[in-house]
Amino acid sequence: MKAQTEKRQVVKTAFVWVNPRNCNACERCIDACPKQVLGVDGSFWHKHVVLENPDACTGCRNCMQVCRRKVFSENASDLFKSILAEQGIEYS
Ligand code: SF4
Ligand code: SF4
Repeated sequence: MKAQTEKRQVVKTAFVWVNPRNCNACERCIDACPKQVLGVDGSFWHKHVVLENPDACTGCRNCMQVCRRKVFSENASDLFKSILAEQGIEYS
């Protein structure tokens, strides 16, 4: 059996990707999220942001704007594109 390698946690909502490797659990994004999507994992060796309620994400981008460590990025999924298209916005 192979030794278990590092697990890379990458999670997403319909609007944002979350890569918590650089997260220092400052909780700025948690305070900024209006939908209580985000929380903190309590691991002793690396506290970091987690998605506790991803279905509630509305794509407001507050988390992206307040995070200083580039943990969040846009999830340009088909859903996101279709929602923008409904609003007359072309994603490029
Ligand atoms: S995009 Fe808005 S609703 Fe979604 S996780 Fe970020 S702050 Fe919360
Ligand atoms: S703002 Fe960025 S660094 Fe701070 S807890 Fe959120 S994801 Fe982590």
